[in-house]
Amino acid sequence: PTVFAVKRFAVLGLGRNGLPAVQTLAACGAHVQAWDDGEAGRHGLTQALAHMPPEQAARITCAPLENLAGFDALVLSPGIPHHLPRVHPVAALAIAAGVPILSDAELLYCAVRAAGSKARFAGITGTNGKSTTTTLLAHILEQAGVPVAAGGNLGPAALALPLLPDNGVYVLEMSSYMLERLDTLHFDAACLLNLTPDHLDRHAGMAGYAQAKQRVFAGQTAHDIAVIGIDDAECTRIAGHLAQSATPCVTVSGTNPAASYYGRDGAVWHNSAALATLPPALPGAHNAQNAAAALAMARFLGIADTVAAQAIASFPGLPHRQKLVETCNNIAFIDDSKATNADASSRALGCYDRLVWIAGGMAKEGGIESLSPYFGRIAHAFLIGRDAAELAATLARHNVPHTVVETLEKAVPQAYSLAQQTHTPVILLSPACASFDQYAGFEARGQHFQALAHAVRTQQMSTT
Ligand code: ADP
Repeated sequence: PTVFAVKRFAVLGLGRNGLPAVQTLAACGAHVQAWDDGEAGRHGLTQALAHMPPEQAARITCAPLENLAGFDALVLSPGIPHHLPRVHPVAALAIAAGVPILSDAELLYCAVRAAGSKARFAGITGTNGKSTTTTLLAHILEQAGVPVAAGGNLGPAALALPLLPDNGVYVLEMSSYMLERLDTLHFDAACLLNLTPDHLDRHAGMAGYAQAKQRVFAGQTAHDIAVIGIDDAECTRIAGHLAQSATPCVTVSGTNPAASYYGRDGAVWHNSAALATLPPALPGAHNAQNAAAALAMARFLGIADTVAAQAIASFPGLPHRQKLVETCNNIAFIDDSKATNADASSRALGCYDRLVWIAGGMAKEGGIESLSPYFGRIAHAFLIGRDAAELAATLARHNVPHTVVETLEKAVPQAYSLAQQTHTPVILLSPACASFDQYAGFEARGQHFQALAHAVRTQQMSTT
């Protein structure tokens, strides 16, 4: 892939995405100046340099990015902001110098095409359900024998994916920042699942957020396919516009039979030849929407509906998304740590008639007020983390029994006692909040929950 040869790239952020970007660029002959504001990121690069072929390592410098004149592009890690209301100073330098800001997904596309591969690209975005749909589509393609590489936002990083042959498919989970940093990459199959307020702080309001997400359809032609969810007002509006473009548009829904693909919760597929029920790993109408989207894309990519439906039935599910992690005395412990906003939590709450709820952490704008339709199902709530008091205030207004316990260590055993006393069959961790006040991320929070649930069971077994 000589497309990067003799070019100069600046790379900011040396984590899961930045490091493979530096390595791939240098391996392809480009010169790279790389930097990370954090010591740990720079240390990672130093370690990687020691294991690289010397001629590649020689093309990499680790130095602060103070002047971007003469660079061909700036590669920014997905979490680093490049527009108002927050702009990283290095991104501001790039904009001032007219240097394009690119995501590693764009570089992957260039590298794949430069290597002569005609492999196709599927891009999936939305507020919720991205990882599930990405993994599910990859699973379907894999089961159908198609060479597939899945990654992007959920990892592995785009540039850490292998080169695929002409009949291969890259399935990329795209965050809004990644979408805003594309240039020539367009998706053969693009999917926007849903749009609800989440990362509004990053995008100066809903209009900016919706616009960023719609870029998943940018550059598409009549030979491609646009898949869009119609289970929320904003996406339904966008679907109306898409229907007027040259790109074939397929609407998907978990609940609306008017959609082109309709995966009604727990029941049969409609509007397609395949008839299959959803597996336990895909509970709820939201997952019916994800499955309908994956099915629509799979069909466009040449997979027969019956093959796709079979693959969906064998989908193992993703960790930390309504995952049953322990059962003790007929009480199920369900880890939905991935639900970091109220909308995501509403999906899980809607799946159980009666539950003990563990929530809290760093609350998103709007808090949990929007969950009030589900409050009647909650036997008791245990609240943890920085914004426990804020959540408690909302629950108090709605007369939902609750206790502020601050940590999961306290929440899990107390939740279990209460579930036993009240004969409540489900303990659900679905925080509706970010985890960073107490954990490195939602994965660590979910693992902790699982360990604590396991400890409860072990203790029960030793006392009975
Ligand atoms: P993402 O990668 O977009 O964060 P995930 O697939 O990891 O999405 O799912 C995160 C959470 O979002 C799930 O635990 C579930 O509660 C909720 N969710 C999943 N799919 C959908 C959907 N299609 N619509 C609304 N909420 C969803």
